[in-house]
Amino acid sequence: MSGIPVIGIPRAMLYYRYGLLWERFFETLGVSTILSSPGNREILDTGAARAPDEGCLAVKMFMGHVESLIGRCERIFIPRYSNYGTTALFCTRYEALYDGARNIFRTSGQRFITCNIDAQNGSPEPKAFERFGVELGFSPKESHRAWKEASRALEQQKKAEEQAQKEMIRNPGIKVLVAGHSYVLSDPYLGKPILDYLISSEAICLRTDALEEETSRRACAQFSPTCRWIVSEEVVGAVLLWKDRVDGIVLVSAFPCGPDSMTNELLIRRIRGVPVLTLNLDTQSGMAGVETRLESFLDIIRFQRGEMV
Ligand code: SF4
Repeated sequence: MSGIPVIGIPRAMLYYRYGLLWERFFETLGVSTILSSPGNREILDTGAARAPDEGCLAVKMFMGHVESLIGRCERIFIPRYSNYGTTALFCTRYEALYDGARNIFRTSGQRFITCNIDAQNGSPEPKAFERFGVELGFSPKESHRAWKEASRALEQQKKAEEQAQKEMIRNPGIKVLVAGHSYVLSDPYLGKPILDYLISSEAICLRTDALEEETSRRACAQFSPTCRWIVSEEVVGAVLLWKDRVDGIVLVSAFPCGPDSMTNELLIRRIRGVPVLTLNLDTQSGMAGVETRLESFLDIIRFQRGEMV
């Protein structure tokens, strides 16, 4: 469609949660997109040099992805995820990404575009994407249809992931639940090497983000009714639901994550009888040190299972 800009999407942060929704939305409308490359050391270093020092590792990685898209597309898409209602909030850093990137790259000439998901202020997700589609030049009806189609695709993907995980837990062998935010666990430079290492050590790797979100959030609400961050609720709830079905739990965080600093502490105090390893990733983390800790962790599990003397 002429007049519609090519949209750049940073492959970071909530891309790992909503990426399919965004891509399917654009695709249904016939809008071309480009995706930044998978996360790597260079992207992280670039982002760390650009982002505020106090930003968490995930935000630093994100800014590196934004920089890699500068000049390669007409607009960079950075949605503002604020909340799905009064009791379902996102970490404020997600909300600040659009303004943060516009400020950091203000002299680049790059244009940005956002979509405001803020149910508390009259912009729930369907409405937000409808408005966003109109801004791109489509009718409200076309935009709503595209969101609906994208939303359905995302729902199906989540169901398939959950089903796959439920089947995995029935297999014999050491089962490790890896807890963390999707953009940390799935990033090829940040969390994925942890999952790869566990799998190569023949552990069955389960993930908190592969469980049904509402079920996890309900479990968290019973444990801590005041926890309001959606993603943290899901991590906490999934750990509580699965802790008795696994041999060990690895809590993976992006330093210095505010929500995780609280929820990890809560979980460590709550979990009994299952080894827990906490990995706080920062810009200096190398896989060598992490592998040593994972190796010892797996040895503890093998010892507890009577597989080591
Ligand atoms: S939840 Fe933690 S890791 Fe994620 S953006 Fe917020 S501070 Fe960063």
